[in-house]
Amino acid sequence: MINNIQNYNIQSLTTSQNTPQQPKFAQNSNPQIVNDKIPNIQSGKDLINNTNSLKELDEIFKKLEGKEGKDFANTAYHELVKYFDIEKNAPKEITWEKNEGRAIVGDYRFYDNSIVFYTDYFMQNNKAEQLATIAHELTHCKQLANMLTTEGLSVEKIAYAYAVSDMRAMLIRNPKIIEMHKKAIAEDKEKEFMQSLIQVGTIKTAKELYAAHSETLKQPKHPLNSLEGIKAQKDWIAQYNYNGADMKVYNACPMEKEARQVEMMISSAYKNRIKG
Ligand SMILES: [Zn+2]
Repeated sequence: MINNIQNYNIQSLTTSQNTPQQPKFAQNSNPQIVNDKIPNIQSGKDLINNTNSLKELDEIFKKLEGKEGKDFANTAYHELVKYFDIEKNAPKEITWEKNEGRAIVGDYRFYDNSIVFYTDYFMQNNKAEQLATIAHELTHCKQLANMLTTEGLSVEKIAYAYAVSDMRAMLIRNPKIIEMHKKAIAEDKEKEFMQSLIQVGTIKTAKELYAAHSETLKQPKHPLNSLEGIKAQKDWIAQYNYNGADMKVYNACPMEKEARQVEMMISSAYKNRIKG
């Protein structure tokens, strides 16, 4: 079900902004996110400091001994899904695809809840890097599952954040959209143009999220003011501010920072074990 999309506004958006801005919520939408009330939860670091978590990782690494290639990666994937406690949310299997000119190793696709690894690039990496890559994409999966199971962060609201960040990306790298945008500015209809991009994107993404994450959506919700709920709001803002097309913004995105922390934690735990 999709409702209230017309109530979302884009008051805080203009294309000339290079620095991320806080989103403005429509008056009738919850939650009211107050930035200074959001604590800095660094789950990557929390994991590093947790000895139990290191023991658990050690058990996983034992199970990987003697495994190679896709067997190594697929086994690691299933074990890490359990480790991250996202058995109900994560894709059942890795999707292996051929590289098609994109210089990336992996991708979490929220729209169909799949984790894709590009076989050639993935296999060029050593085992520590492969584990790190799997952990990175699973972190994104966990971030979304956490948002989807937070009270008050509706599917529509999450879809809206994706639609806004998608629009930013399109305005940077989609020649057709860039052309249409110029025309809209010339006709003094920029706001309407952006509003309609966001609206179309929100409807499309909400449908995708309902379809691909139905199991996650059945799970009990945690309150907005719980640690998980606060983390979800923080990630929502990060998604909203993201533009998906610019390395600087990518590196500064809190969701990416967290994924990199988890990545580093897993790979250093693995390397230490190999050394020891
Ligand atoms: Zn990432």
